[in-house]
Amino acid sequence: MNVLRSDFLTQGPAIPAFEKELARTAGTRYCAVFSSGTAALHGACAAAGLGKGDEVIVPALTFAASANAVLYVGAKPVFADVDIETGNIDPHDVERKITKRTRSIISVDYAGRPADYTALRRIAKKHKLLLIADAAHSLGASYKGRPVGSLADMTMFSFHPVKSITTGEGGAIATNSKEFYIKLLAFRHHGIVKDRTLFKKKHAPAWHQEMQSLGYNYRLTDIQAALGLSQLKRLRAHIAKRRALAHRYKKLASSIPGLILPPSDSKDAHSAWHLFPIRVAEPSARARVFNALRNVGIAVQVHYLPVYLHPYYQKLGYGKELCPRAESFYASEISIPLFPDLTLREQDRVIRELRKVL
Ligand SMILES: *Cc1c(COP(=O)(O)O)cnc(C)c1O
Repeated sequence: MNVLRSDFLTQGPAIPAFEKELARTAGTRYCAVFSSGTAALHGACAAAGLGKGDEVIVPALTFAASANAVLYVGAKPVFADVDIETGNIDPHDVERKITKRTRSIISVDYAGRPADYTALRRIAKKHKLLLIADAAHSLGASYKGRPVGSLADMTMFSFHPVKSITTGEGGAIATNSKEFYIKLLAFRHHGIVKDRTLFKKKHAPAWHQEMQSLGYNYRLTDIQAALGLSQLKRLRAHIAKRRALAHRYKKLASSIPGLILPPSDSKDAHSAWHLFPIRVAEPSARARVFNALRNVGIAVQVHYLPVYLHPYYQKLGYGKELCPRAESFYASEISIPLFPDLTLREQDRVIRELRKVL
């Protein structure tokens, strides 16, 4: 309400206030918000200077946007397979996919569980690659005691309503690099620079602004930033609820035959529990289980069809069976409901229906 009554609906003071709190949560010096997580990832690829002739390694098991951002800047996504337990990008396959043209890795913290950042950072350093984290699932997660956000060169968050916090639509890049931060600010605002110290023109008049690169209108509004600030206050409590529900799912579902449950938090990886991805041990039964749950009003989903199997990517020439583990993960996966307001009774009902169909 304060924003609605104020002088600014967009480009006002709620933006840097939200960015400051986000940077604190992510453990970084800088944070730039965008109109969506996808726009933010596009910004990261542009700030990284990725373009034609460059290859970027992306896990196959992710939302299409992780790879689409690479296409937006004219670079080529190269798909890496995943770890069958966690669904996270497999560092060994990343190393196998590196060529002379590889410039960057975009990792994804599948279902909210941090990827193997130690291995990814080691590979990135060894081969002089930039590590960009798609942390759309994992705001509020931590790895070896460090918050997700502080573990890669740039980290993307999404504030779509299904994610850890929401601004309706929205996203951000957290980074410790001032150079990337300056490029991200320009990219979301048409490529226009407002900081006088960065002008090409010497002795610029007071009204002067410069467009120095081709950018977009990818701004978040102050109305959304105010919502984001209030949401951020609930982040820890929401994740605690998700974690408790996930542990309860693990306990209740462990006696159901024919199910593979997601791994618990490890000493190193504390998940944000964005999803609770179960796998049906007999993939031919997946559709039957999925439909049975949908038919009784339980909103299950599947995450994800490997990106390269989408018709658009097939048309670009990507083969089938590029990443066999991602394909077998996909073939057996069902995400059952997990959100902070899920009640214990609702959770019991999901378990009951699952037990019945299996
Ligand atoms: C949600 C999501 C995105 C895109 O975020 P938007 O804010 O919806 O644009 C990208 N990658 C992954 C893994 C996601 O889950």
